[in-house]
Parts: sequence; C-alpha cells; structure tokens
Amino acid sequence: MILLDKDINDLQMLISEADIQKKLDVLAKDIESIFDENEDIYVICVLKGSVMFCADLVKRFKNNIQMEFIRISSYGHETKSTNNLQAIDLTLPNLDDKNVLIVEDIIDTGLTARFLTDLFKIKHHPKKLVFASLLNKKCARQVYIDPDFYGFEIDDKFVVGYGLDYKGYFRNLPYIGYFPD
Ligand code: 5GP
Repeated sequence: MILLDKDINDLQMLISEADIQKKLDVLAKDIESIFDENEDIYVICVLKGSVMFCADLVKRFKNNIQMEFIRISSYGHETKSTNNLQAIDLTLPNLDDKNVLIVEDIIDTGLTARFLTDLFKIKHHPKKLVFASLLNKKCARQVYIDPDFYGFEIDDKFVVGYGLDYKGYFRNLPYIGYFPD
C-alpha cells in the first residue's frame, strides 16, 4: 500500500523533457567553453537531487571528465527548506589546482550553494571553481549567491521530477512538475 499524500495525476508540468534536453545542449556548450579543451574537469554531483541533471550534462562534454559524488540534505521530508544542512558524505579526492564543476539540481535559499562554494574554496583550492544548477529560485534566496550557470529560473514553487523528490518519490520523472495548492 502506498501512503504518499501526493497523487501523480495532480502533478502539473512545469518544464517538459524536451525543453530540459534542449537547454542542456546549450548549458553544456557554455560551461565547457570556459575550460581549456585539453584540460580535465572534476564534476561534483550533489546527491541525490542532481543525479539526472549531472548524468545528462556530462554526456555532452568533450573534455576528459572525472565524476565525484557528495551527499547533502536540507529538505528532509518537507516542501520548505529546513535551513538545516546535513552533510551526509563529503568524501573527495585531492582537488588542489584542478578544474572543478559543482552540479546542483536547484538553488533555493542559497544555503547549500554558499556552503559548498565556501568549502571548496577553503578546503580544496581548485584552479577553477564553477557552479551550475539546473533550476534557480531567485525569489527564495536567503543568502547572496548566484550560480555561474543555470538552466531555468522558476517561481517559489516546490517542484519534483528529473531527480527532485517529494519524500523520496518522483525522482524518476523525465520532466519537472509541481502540485498546485
Ligand atoms: P537551498 O540550500 O538552496 O535552500 O536548497 C538546496 C536543496 O534543497 C536542493 O539541492 C534540493 O535538494 C532542495 N530543494 C530546494 N527546492 C526544492 C524544490 O522545489 N523541490 C525539491 N524536491 N527539492 C528542493
């Protein structure tokens, strides 16, 4: 029996699969253009939400790629940020003097992006540090931070799909949607 209090039939489409994939073609080119073509890029996938975005993005890169995974949680099972970051796994190799691309699903309050940017600058001393997010909820920001690259600016709605979850569900949808109030 499923106890989930949201029904997929109520989900409204916000960004279609085709629009996401089209945007990724542009984003990948823009991001790659700031790295030398013969340089390696260390792509840091911030789990779990950015799993789809990161996987589809790196397939488009022509540079040599190393992929690393870190895990942070800030929403728990809520649809509003708890402002309480939980760093679940930040294990990484030495990234001193490397080209680093952090890949996030969405920037909401900005707390996660701020934390990660500061952490990488202080602890890892990368050669280049670039932050890319698929979605940008600029209107929800609590701290000043802007990604170097983002796919779509969205309103202050709780969205699911394409890696983003509600209580662990809906990550597998190929599009992004929301549940109307
Ligand atoms: P921030 O620290 O910017 O408030 O939030 C970043 C994290 O909160 C994201 O990586 C994502 O996991 C989660 N988050 C923020 N907004 C949403 C949303 O609309 N839907 C879902 N599913 N997660 C969100």
